[in-house]
Amino acid sequence: MDVGELLGRDLWELGMEAWRLRTKLYGRTATYISSMVLNYTNICVVECDFCPFWRARGDGDAYALAVGDAVKRVLAVDAEHGLSQVLIQGGINPEIGIEYFEELFRAIKAKAPHIAIHALSPLEVDYLSRRERMTWREVLERLREAGMDSMPGGGGEILVDRVRKEISPKKIGAEVWLRIMEEAHGLGIPTSATMMYGHVEGPEDWAEHIRKIAELQRKTHGFLAFIAWNYEPEGNRLGAKVRYPRTSATLLRIVAAARLAFTGESFIPHIQSSWLTNGPESAELAMYFGADDFGGTLYEEKVLEGQRRRSPIATRKDVEELIRRAGFQPVERDNWYRPARPGRG
Ligand code: SF4
Repeated sequence: MDVGELLGRDLWELGMEAWRLRTKLYGRTATYISSMVLNYTNICVVECDFCPFWRARGDGDAYALAVGDAVKRVLAVDAEHGLSQVLIQGGINPEIGIEYFEELFRAIKAKAPHIAIHALSPLEVDYLSRRERMTWREVLERLREAGMDSMPGGGGEILVDRVRKEISPKKIGAEVWLRIMEEAHGLGIPTSATMMYGHVEGPEDWAEHIRKIAELQRKTHGFLAFIAWNYEPEGNRLGAKVRYPRTSATLLRIVAAARLAFTGESFIPHIQSSWLTNGPESAELAMYFGADDFGGTLYEEKVLEGQRRRSPIATRKDVEELIRRAGFQPVERDNWYRPARPGRG
């Protein structure tokens, strides 16, 4: 399939084809998961220009959670809402080594074995491998042994090095991101693939990004989901360069093209439209352009707090209401996209 040609099609025709495929696969259902986000530290030495979250060590509001406090937070949210997943991500903090994650994952599994650990990203795996002088495989094996169930696609942004150098010069390159994903898939750790558009890239970069993910999926079949979101220009350095970020229409184009590109031998079963990153209305519309998953309830998310204030969605009931309002039947899922036990609220 020519991804460039797909992305260049008339938006409504593209959407209609993606809708037909989405309906064939999932009817009128839309899944979501009861999840929380544990941002264990905001100290980060990678300092990406697009990121509003990172702080330098010594900044007044810099923090790193002790393992005990992090576990308490997870258990408190679980007691209140009933969690199926904890998404664990944070900055690259040189004071945090692999033992921190091992201890954290083990403690969560000991107290709440029903919560799946969806944690870290290729960036953190690469950082840990250099810090601990281990291979990527060794890092992943140790994390899996400690309880990591799956890995998010953080740090994917746009898998084109020219773009990456401009928006996050200290971050791992596209090839490293893909190789670590391949390593994870080889160990049976499923992952997501992500994409952040709407900054300094163009449609040819979207095509290359999707092509690279499709190529790896053909080889490993380890991506469970593809998630795209637009770059948010507020509160970060890159914002000054990006006057008019691309938003909803681009999201719909990318979601629909992804649904159609990730088929056949490159099949990625789920196309997610996260309400937090894309805004609830765009997320609803994306369901008509090929998306089948609404993402998580995302209790406690800190990276995009500004966005959360604009879309105050607090519980699984709110997410279900959004899905119904859009004309779909909500189905709560687990970390592996299977129907989940009903939760608390
Ligand atoms: S996006 Fe991640 S790696 Fe980049 S500055 Fe933010 S926390 Fe650090």
